[in-house]
Amino acid sequence: MSLFKKVIDGVYNLLLGLKVTSLRLPERAVTLQYPDERWEMPERSRGIVVLLSDKETGKLNCTACLLCQKACPTAAITIEREKGEDKKWHLTSFTVDNTICCFCGLCEEACNFSALKMATKYEFSVYDQSELVFDMKKLQELGRDVPYTPRPKKKKPVVKKPAPAEPAADEMKPKAEPEKETESKPEPEAETKPEAASGDLFDDAKKEPESNPESGAEPAQKENKPDSSEDKKPEAQE
Ligand code: SF4
Ligand code: SF4
Repeated sequence: MSLFKKVIDGVYNLLLGLKVTSLRLPERAVTLQYPDERWEMPERSRGIVVLLSDKETGKLNCTACLLCQKACPTAAITIEREKGEDKKWHLTSFTVDNTICCFCGLCEEACNFSALKMATKYEFSVYDQSELVFDMKKLQELGRDVPYTPRPKKKKPVVKKPAPAEPAADEMKPKAEPEKETESKPEPEAETKPEAASGDLFDDAKKEPESNPESGAEPAQKENKPDSSEDKKPEAQE
């Protein structure tokens, strides 16, 4: 290419650039003066994992349930916990390794206690990679100003005392049956013994040939049942 043609091409590109600049000059600027100015990120954009705290008490909402740790596909979350005297799990350590976090948001979806959120924050470039491992304290500080909707607290169920049980129908009935049983008891044996001593048995033995024709059942019944005619015999003898 000759020198003359190179000069012509340079002037043409200069004029072309000046044309674009002159057309955009009256319009509003579309660029930001970073780092003095920053873009406002959409609310659901996934920046970095932070821990959320209770707005009243300032304590972490985390219950150390380990759901987020189990949901994390890259094992970026490490949780340590211990059981307190109240028999509840208490968080002792919560670490997020941002060098292996893929910002998928599964940990936020797994959390049922509004304790963890993907904040819209970014700009965490460092020279030392180890500084990208955030501990519990840093995660809590990063989440202090992150807006979130607290999970509605469960109301304690009202335990109704059971009504006193009504007495059973059998218990309400008067206990008259035992008295009837005592009235129907047979007479004491002492009254029958004198009869046997007075020779009734001897009389029955005399009657046995008459009352035992073929079957042996009838004599036994006669022994048990006091005969009214036999009761009268002693009186006749006397
Ligand atoms: S955003 Fe994904 S990779 Fe990062 S900590 Fe959460 S679950 Fe793990
Ligand atoms: S951040 Fe949420 S899911 Fe993870 S341990 Fe705490 S309460 Fe459980």
